[in-house]
Amino acid sequence: MELIHLHDKTFKPYITEQVIDERVAQIAQNISADLKKTLPLFIVVLNGSFIFAANLVKKLPFPCEITFVKLASYQGTQSTGQVTEIIGLTEAIENRTVVIVEDIVDTGTTIEKLYHLLKQKKAKQIKTATLLFKPTAYKKDIPIDYICMEIANDFVVGYGLDYDGLGRNLKDIYVLT
Ligand code: 5GP
Ligand code: MG
Repeated sequence: MELIHLHDKTFKPYITEQVIDERVAQIAQNISADLKKTLPLFIVVLNGSFIFAANLVKKLPFPCEITFVKLASYQGTQSTGQVTEIIGLTEAIENRTVVIVEDIVDTGTTIEKLYHLLKQKKAKQIKTATLLFKPTAYKKDIPIDYICMEIANDFVVGYGLDYDGLGRNLKDIYVLT
């Protein structure tokens, strides 16, 4: 078993590229069945989702658009706490079917914010897709429509996911030892 060292931590093999690929193919089929007639816009949340998104969209045999966003949080000028903004979204959202593409849904805070922002922009239908889902960590009630894999509440890297900048290029997924 090949251990990987990133910064001060050690990771062990967890999910192989082959297993991930089979699951990505399965959710691509489900997405196709549900959305092939809707000309959906896939909204890929950078950075971690880039490999998942690339492999997913190659498996979709129908017309679709793909765009990439980042989420930025800052303190509002009022004392209303955190304001979240979508960076990079130039496409019109109103009356469209959109699919949020995430690397991992943990507590759900990130995906919930994006979901509400897209709702404000009057999307017709909002679907959510994620490579990994941690059911025991999830605290929100946004439906996660397409899940490749559910995992325990552990920290993982690889296949796009990083630990402090490193590990995104690993082709398999590894878990903290
Ligand atoms: P949430 O907002 O759902 O709590 O967390 C989502 C974000 O936290 C993910 O997009 C990701 O950046 C980070 N995250 C959560 N769990 C993990 C993990 O196991 N590994 C890595 N690399 N990032 C994680
Ligand atoms: Mg993410």
